[in-house]
Amino acid sequence: ASCDKLTGPIETTLCDYETIESVNNVLYDQVHELVQTPFFKYFRVDLYRECPFWEENVFCMNRDCSIITVDESEIPEQWRAGTLSKLERREDVRVDLPGCYYRDSDFCFLDDMTEGDYVDLSLNPERFTGYVGPSTHRVWRAIYEENCFGESESSLSKMSRSGVVLPDTMAEVLYMDGDIPQEHCLEKKVYYKVISGLHASISTHICHEHLDQTTGEWGPDLQCYVTRIASHPERLQYIYFNTVLLLRAVARLGPYLSAYDYCASGTHDDDEITYSRLEKVLEIARIAGKFDETALFTGENANVLKEEFKQHFRNVTRIMDCVGCDKCRLWGKIQTTGLGTALKVLFELDEKNLDPRLNANLLQRSEVVALINTLHRFSESLHAVDVFRRLWRESNAEE
Ligand code: FAD
Repeated sequence: ASCDKLTGPIETTLCDYETIESVNNVLYDQVHELVQTPFFKYFRVDLYRECPFWEENVFCMNRDCSIITVDESEIPEQWRAGTLSKLERREDVRVDLPGCYYRDSDFCFLDDMTEGDYVDLSLNPERFTGYVGPSTHRVWRAIYEENCFGESESSLSKMSRSGVVLPDTMAEVLYMDGDIPQEHCLEKKVYYKVISGLHASISTHICHEHLDQTTGEWGPDLQCYVTRIASHPERLQYIYFNTVLLLRAVARLGPYLSAYDYCASGTHDDDEITYSRLEKVLEIARIAGKFDETALFTGENANVLKEEFKQHFRNVTRIMDCVGCDKCRLWGKIQTTGLGTALKVLFELDEKNLDPRLNANLLQRSEVVALINTLHRFSESLHAVDVFRRLWRESNAEE
């Protein structure tokens, strides 16, 4: 197993591992502070929509699967669903489904904000919950299955219309437990890296905040990390890859985020703190967010491929309604929305779209909150990787 530092260029980016290593400690501190501010810590989420693709009756009954919700009265008026739905209705054409919708440029389904609970994310960290077994494997398998490009319609879209249930015995999904076949185009590779990197980041959190079920104590579990990540070095590489991709999206959004109204209380008391923390994150994003989005979707069928990519990624965001553990579903939704927002910023929006003076309502509040919290999760994973490297060195020294 490899627990050594990675060196050299991060494939399909313009960044190297050393650059991310050199900024991550500061990035983690700053973004960690940023997500404690009121704007970034309150999130509204609908955890009770049915799985649209198969019958899912698994509910994780462990205490650690549940989330602590917040009463609407604690949420600043401006961010309540009623106020937001008045403000955030943009003119674009929306495709509405029960409880959610997407617009043409979106890479994800967004909750329609009329249902759901308010959550203080800082009180519900992503960590080990005990959600394991066939339900988790079915969800992951369905997510990887979305990587099969080339059909005009994804297998899940067909299933959801026909009501066909995904068989448990489905053949091993392409790419699992292996590297990406060489012949696959750049866009497919990027898709796979985004998904596998998300999976690896979630696994890193599970191993970093793990419950020892015999002693009842929480703490890092080195063996868990070695089995799930370190013995598959490409998974760790994809955590770095996702971090660069998110940083690039945040850097591109810099002027928009700097002009955003974070006012919570009407008195602007919290604004200064939020802006100063945000500026530090933006500074790092400008240095380390070296991802060349212009290298993708350039070929002959670029637009067709992009539509397909979008449709598949949107399906991944809907698959989150099939996750049978509330806390996992919460973070699954946030992170797929955060990554979907980053993909939209990189592949759909030009400089004019991103100009806050021309397009003040470009993003929904939920997209901004999801993007920054997703960056926080990935930066936290890299921070945890350092902990595991130290534990690895210590365990070797003892032998
Ligand atoms: P899994 O992680 O379920 O992996 C299944 C198979 O996928 C592996 O056997 C391997 O072949 C392949 N695989 C694993 N990692 C990768 C990778 N990075 N790239 C490519 N292939 C890979 N559990 C929690 O305790 N806390 C959470 O917050 C949490 N959030 C979740 C969110 C989602 C969206 C989902 C679907 C599950 C979540 N889970 C969570 C469950 C967790 O991810 C695992 O499924 C569970 O711990 C069982 O792990 P496992 O060892 O069986 O392998």
